[in-house]
Amino acid sequence: MRTIGHLIGGAEAADAAGRYAPVWNPATGEQQARVALASAQEVRAAVGVARAAAPGWRATPLGRRAEVMFRFRDLLDAGRKEVARLLTAEHGKTLDDALGEIARGLENVEFACGAPHLLRGGYSEEVSAGVDVHEVRQPLGVVAGITPFNFPAMVPLWMLANALVCGNAFVLKPSERDPSPALFLAELLGRAGLPDGVLNVVQGDKVAVDALLDHPDVAAVSFVGSTPIARYVYERATAAGKRVQALGGAKNHMVVLPDAEIAAAADAAVSAAYGSAGERCMAVSVVVAVGEAADPLVEAIAARVRGIRVGPGYDAASEMGPLITAAHRDRVAAYLDTATAQGASVVVDGRTDPATSGPGFFLGASLVDHVRPTSAVYTDEIFGPVLAVVRVATYDEALRLIEDNPYGNGAAIFTRDGGAARRFTAEVQAGMVGVNVPIPVPVAYYSFGGWKGSLFGDLHMYGPDGIRFYTRTKVVTSRWPDPATSSVDLGFPRTR
Ligand code: NAD
Repeated sequence: MRTIGHLIGGAEAADAAGRYAPVWNPATGEQQARVALASAQEVRAAVGVARAAAPGWRATPLGRRAEVMFRFRDLLDAGRKEVARLLTAEHGKTLDDALGEIARGLENVEFACGAPHLLRGGYSEEVSAGVDVHEVRQPLGVVAGITPFNFPAMVPLWMLANALVCGNAFVLKPSERDPSPALFLAELLGRAGLPDGVLNVVQGDKVAVDALLDHPDVAAVSFVGSTPIARYVYERATAAGKRVQALGGAKNHMVVLPDAEIAAAADAAVSAAYGSAGERCMAVSVVVAVGEAADPLVEAIAARVRGIRVGPGYDAASEMGPLITAAHRDRVAAYLDTATAQGASVVVDGRTDPATSGPGFFLGASLVDHVRPTSAVYTDEIFGPVLAVVRVATYDEALRLIEDNPYGNGAAIFTRDGGAARRFTAEVQAGMVGVNVPIPVPVAYYSFGGWKGSLFGDLHMYGPDGIRFYTRTKVVTSRWPDPATSSVDLGFPRTR
């Protein structure tokens, strides 16, 4: 059995812990490799290597650090297909979807190439007689990233690109379910000129995560994953004195007003709900149909759902691949029984899709109508190809539903009424909002982050907040006094 290990100090590290997890091929249901699960000792070794590499990298001229990003950008661009194949083999998503993930990750690298501009400080001349002030942004030292299974290339890139170009050393703990893309990214960065030890990849589970959260030399932690773990990471790492941004799960609502273009809204809902088999933190998982929109909308969505071609991600004919594990597939499928028991109606049952009976971890696309806000299909993040429709009478009821939901990642409105859309963007309780756009993932020069249970911490991920997160500011006040005018003055310094 092939073993996927760690990358520490630029070299593949022999796994010392002797613990492993299976890496499945979700399309066939077979185990294709095993991944080493690091011990706390191995994590400490990786942090030690990063700590040793950090001063040299921080002292590397900014233009040179940006140059490494430019080279990385070109290598990643040229290697898109190779990364996509790794992604599809371990995650299961279609090759086309994998290429989309890489394209969005690449945007973050391109943003980081602008570091010389982004890291510019400020200068105020003559704030008092003969006194000037300037501000600089300095790296934090060693920072850690802990990433989820569903975007095994893009989410590491959200973190890595900005953290490294700002002059930090990085320890990445990818998801143990699809660990290979992160190693490939690290290899490309090495080829781009990143010195050994500046980026280290440790594979692992809770043991590795806890070791990072507790390590005194880790200055900051970026986390993306489910809400319970995000909350745990935030609490444990902040208690250890670290800066933390911990992004959690989601339940993204798409409100469709009666005046919306129904066919376009149905296209958008289906694309956003079932792309990547619903395993996206920005997937639309609830359609909130307002008033008369409901009947034609459900009919239009159901017609499209029945036509989705489910199959292996590497098959160009497939539109939707398998789920990540058999256990996850079974958990998602169980919601269809719960839905019926809790008063909803299953309009399209994905369990009848022929792909579901094969050996892979497939589940066909499912649509559930008349979902009550108290039922599990609504309250839980299902993270699979199950779209819930909640029917409400008014816009206000739709807005209240979103407000009462404990998550606040993304929300979208579909309408032809500019006034209603404008009101929605002002009022809705979510961090990322779409107007006739179902997956409003911000471009790399804005920042990504939800509200409420979808993010613990202050700064959002990537973009300008990413630069802020991975640096701290220092303000320097200086005077070059003329010895002839110097005197003792015990009063508090005044500017006027
Ligand atoms: P997860 O929370 O199970 O795992 C995320 C990371 O935490 C992994 O690296 C995992 O090894 C580690 N981990 C798991 N259990 C742990 C524990 N008990 N203690 C310490 N560390 C632990 O999430 P997942 O299943 O890999 O990913 C799916 C989840 O991620 C969904 O909830 C999805 O919404 C969320 N997600 C959120 C965003 C966002 O931007 N908000 C983006 C992508 C995914």
